[in-house]
Amino acid sequence: LVSSEHHPGRSTVRVAGVPVGGDNMTVIAGPCAVETPDQTLEAARMARAAGASLLRGGAYKPRTSPYAFQGLGETGLKILADVRAETGLPIVTEVVDAGDVDLVAGYADMLQIGTRNMQNFALLQAAGEAGRPVLLKRGMNATIEEWLMAAEYIAQRGNLDIVLCERGIRTFEKATRNTLDISAVPVAQSLSHLPVIVDPSHSGGKRELVLPLSRAAIAAGADGVIVDVHPAPETALCDGPQALFGDDIGELAGIAATLAPLV
Ligand code: PEP
Repeated sequence: LVSSEHHPGRSTVRVAGVPVGGDNMTVIAGPCAVETPDQTLEAARMARAAGASLLRGGAYKPRTSPYAFQGLGETGLKILADVRAETGLPIVTEVVDAGDVDLVAGYADMLQIGTRNMQNFALLQAAGEAGRPVLLKRGMNATIEEWLMAAEYIAQRGNLDIVLCERGIRTFEKATRNTLDISAVPVAQSLSHLPVIVDPSHSGGKRELVLPLSRAAIAAGADGVIVDVHPAPETALCDGPQALFGDDIGELAGIAATLAPLV
């Protein structure tokens, strides 16, 4: 269902009316985690200034350590909904448990499935039935074929509104959190009709890599980027070192605007 063999041409996925794919270069931005109403609203304003048309933000955080901040849960979803009402930005937010899909879908405009859950088949199937577009991140240990098969699990439940997201894979390299597999963009676009975006924040894990990796993603033909921004990264409860702030925001907006015509 997701293969380009059975579906020639490129698909456009609409998230509350916002197109991802086709001739569009979509910027999704926001905080890694929803922490407070003020922090989320401020980050949403930064996202808009960066040219974003969708707001990201995690209310359920799948952390490596069980002692790390796990997200605000439904309280975080309510904050996101309030910020959407205030800014007009539709929400992309992660769901980590099949049992929470209906709850999260009640607030979210797009469901995100994270790298750690790419092969959580019960979650993929539940997301496929939720009536919301799905952002499917590539598993950090997954091949492109496994990633497309994961998308197939969602599609098989009747939902073809899927956006693929390359977010880095595990390699021997320790200078970055994960290695952004830039070749995955054209490869996935040739094997599948689904839009492919890139997460330069979670792949590199470092603020100074986010803009160069965004340029690389757009130049490689990605349909968009999803980027962490935070009004005060030094106090962030999750992944502060990779969040853009200040002047970086203007630069991201410039990159999106100037490189988009190349795609
Ligand atoms: C995220 O986008 O919030 C996230 C946790 O990303 P990933 O699943 O790619 O690590």
